[in-house]
Amino acid sequence: MNETNDQGRATPPPSRLFRKYLYSFVALAFAALAINTTLDVWFSYREQKQLLAAIQREQAASAAIQIGQFISQIESQLRWMSRLPPDLSAREDNRLNAIRLLRLSPAIAEIAQLDSRGREQVRVSRRVADRIGSNEDLSASPTFRATRASGVYYGPVYFVGETEPFMTLAIAGSGSEPDVAIAEVNLRFIWDLVARIKVGNTGKAYVVDRKGQLIAHPDLWPALRQTDLSADPDVKSGLAGIAPPASGMVKEDLSHQQVLSTYATVAPLGWLVFVELPLSEAYAPIYASIGRSAFLLVVLLGFAVLAALLLSRRMVVPIRMLTQGAKRIGSGDLEQQLAIKTDDELEALGDQFNRMAAHLRESYATLERKVTERTAELEKARDQALAEHSAAERARRAAVHANETKSRFLAVVSHELRTPLNGVMGVLQLLDDGTLSEAQRRSLATAATSGETLIALVDAILEYARLEASTEALERRDFRLDQLVEAAAELMRPQAQAKGLAFNLSCDAGVDAYVHGDPVRLNRVLLNLIGNAVKFTPKGTIDLTASVAPNDGALLLRFTVADTGIGIAPDMHERIFEDFVQADDSIARRFGGTGLGLAIARRLTRLMGGELTVESAPGSGSTFHLTVPLAPAEHNDAAHVARDPSHSFRVLLVDDDPVNCEVGEAMLQRLGHRPTVARNGSSAVALAASEPFDIILMDLHMPDMDGVAAATEIQKLKLQPAPRIIALTADVSKGARERLAGAGITKILGKPLLLNNLRETIESDHDEASVTARPAAGALIDQTYLRDQTELLGAAQIARLHGLLERTGATLIGEIAKAAEAGDRGRLARSTHQLGSAASALGLVRLSERCSEVELSAAAMSSAECRTAALELAALFEASLHALDRLLQPS
Ligand code: ADP
Repeated sequence: MNETNDQGRATPPPSRLFRKYLYSFVALAFAALAINTTLDVWFSYREQKQLLAAIQREQAASAAIQIGQFISQIESQLRWMSRLPPDLSAREDNRLNAIRLLRLSPAIAEIAQLDSRGREQVRVSRRVADRIGSNEDLSASPTFRATRASGVYYGPVYFVGETEPFMTLAIAGSGSEPDVAIAEVNLRFIWDLVARIKVGNTGKAYVVDRKGQLIAHPDLWPALRQTDLSADPDVKSGLAGIAPPASGMVKEDLSHQQVLSTYATVAPLGWLVFVELPLSEAYAPIYASIGRSAFLLVVLLGFAVLAALLLSRRMVVPIRMLTQGAKRIGSGDLEQQLAIKTDDELEALGDQFNRMAAHLRESYATLERKVTERTAELEKARDQALAEHSAAERARRAAVHANETKSRFLAVVSHELRTPLNGVMGVLQLLDDGTLSEAQRRSLATAATSGETLIALVDAILEYARLEASTEALERRDFRLDQLVEAAAELMRPQAQAKGLAFNLSCDAGVDAYVHGDPVRLNRVLLNLIGNAVKFTPKGTIDLTASVAPNDGALLLRFTVADTGIGIAPDMHERIFEDFVQADDSIARRFGGTGLGLAIARRLTRLMGGELTVESAPGSGSTFHLTVPLAPAEHNDAAHVARDPSHSFRVLLVDDDPVNCEVGEAMLQRLGHRPTVARNGSSAVALAASEPFDIILMDLHMPDMDGVAAATEIQKLKLQPAPRIIALTADVSKGARERLAGAGITKILGKPLLLNNLRETIESDHDEASVTARPAAGALIDQTYLRDQTELLGAAQIARLHGLLERTGATLIGEIAKAAEAGDRGRLARSTHQLGSAASALGLVRLSERCSEVELSAAAMSSAECRTAALELAALFEASLHALDRLLQPS
């Protein structure tokens, strides 16, 4: 029901409550009236029926009495006639008496007098002539006999002329020999009587004789036919002397009509007088009464409906007011007052509502006050929180700023360190043009070692910083996984064997595959793990296993390093992967190290999308699990070299440092390119605008216009073809990269400039395929590099360098052994650096890598480790020279 609509209308449709009340009232009134009327009708029906039965009984009884009297009268007249003893009365007297009697009683049609022997003395008749003294013997007649036997005789009804009913009535006189007076009585009187009886309008009375035959009926025909009713059950019970039921009987009359009937017995004759009234007439008053009652019922019902309407409206209107009031209170209108004036419970309820609304008003007011107070408190708290937040934000910004400052500081320091180092290293590389004496070369090597040590140091710190700043990017390429794993193992095997450890490597067939990943980083992690195992295992075995499983369309390398070493306490299992953490303080003393290895290893592993974990218990060895996802190789042959060295580029070298400019220029020339030098940003822009360049090598830190600004300006020139701009910087932080990308620089070349790096960067930029031109990881010699160097410097120069390397290498190995023996870590580092540098000049990558590792960790190495490292380097030097001999032998 749409209540809201109801409110707006003048006469709202009856509500459910209204209808309920209305129906209830009407139903109640109807029930009461109906019950009343039904009872009324029922009782009046019964009364009416009983009344009718009583009237009929009365009529029947009175008719019976009249008939009885009629017969009795005739009987007494006859008795009077026969009262005189026969001997005293003469026949003539009798005749006269008889004539007198006939005159007196018109119903008597004939009178006969019989003497005591049954002889007829007198017979006077209205129809025939009188007979006097005929003496006819009638003693045998049933009339005479029955009369003599019982003193009186009522004969059967018979008809004369078929229309007049007659009956013989005989009386015996008094005395011992009484006469018998016989009268033939005309019963028309009874007929008249019956016809006169008025039973309602259509009812009738009739008489049945002792034999059950109809002898008088208002309709003549049934009586004349002497209809036999002896079979009728009521006639039967009447003749048997049973009184009729007080309430009358309902039966079918001769014309098969339903009638209300009763009867009475005519005393002397044993006849029955029936009085019958058709039911239709008998009940007509009852039906009329029912009709009246029904009419009254309808009228009263109408009144009841009207009364119910009024009453319901009186009840529903205040209830509706209450409902609407409650609704308005529910919707927040507490000002509302209900004005119900019914002077009953509803008015009391309305008052309650008004009081409740007032209460609610008060409560709301209190609540609102509280809410206002609470809001004020909250606002205060919010302001405070905001103040705290902005303080925290300031602190955070300060921290971010500090971090950025640190990154900048690192970059600047590296730059400032690297710039002179760059110069030094470049000049040192150029100095050795093959004309130096042995002493000069040694001095040169020493200088180079010092420089490379410094570069390695700066690189180590930078790598760590880069990892920490999450800016380290992977350098992915194709490589042979089995070679990498085996090379790492082989590299460490001598160290393990030197300590008397069993050293086993088992690789699944799947490892024998070309894969795509970052072999340098992977190699570093493997070497770190194996190196730790060797380092922390005094005796027993080191087992390496490698397997490759399919992994979502790619490959998953699983590598484990299990040792029988000192083990790691459970609480350190996670901590050893943190920066600068060692299992306990004695480790540093006993084994040296910085606690950075595993931290870098894990970070590198995660950078590659893998995971590094450990299982270990103190005293029972450790097992490190490494998993690294790898892609299948992009090219089938990872050692494939596709590079055309004949490219000669026009290169604009932009650097504010004169040494760097010189070195860069010389290197570019050495690489066969055509360099032009600009000493600051603005002249670089001017040169770029006036001359076509293939490549611009842009130093970032310059006093007037920095590299990014200059690159941006050059981009704006929209040169065709656009030169590729390569940044020269040590700062590879994310921020720096983003800044560079904004200026259209996507390639970065680390400082100091190294010939190989320079060449690779320039050429790989030019020809993307050449990016893969890298040595097979773990190989002893970078053949590509060697070939390139041969091309660049000429076979004679390479052969000279080869000889030089053999000699200086042997000397350096000797020096390394001595330094290790003496525990002189400084000398060890220097010598290994020299060896590494010399090795790298001819592409002996594994030796050079190992040298730089030893060089970097020399300071922290124990004496035993130093000795092991020296032995290992000697073995690696031997192996590398053999490999180089084989490669350089003219085929
Ligand atoms: P470093 O070896 O330079 O101390 P790492 O980060 O490589 O640093 O290792 C951290 C520490 O973890 C080591 O100092 C050593 O206590 C423990 N550790 C690493 N590998 C092993 C191993 N195989 N057996 C026992 N302890 C080890």
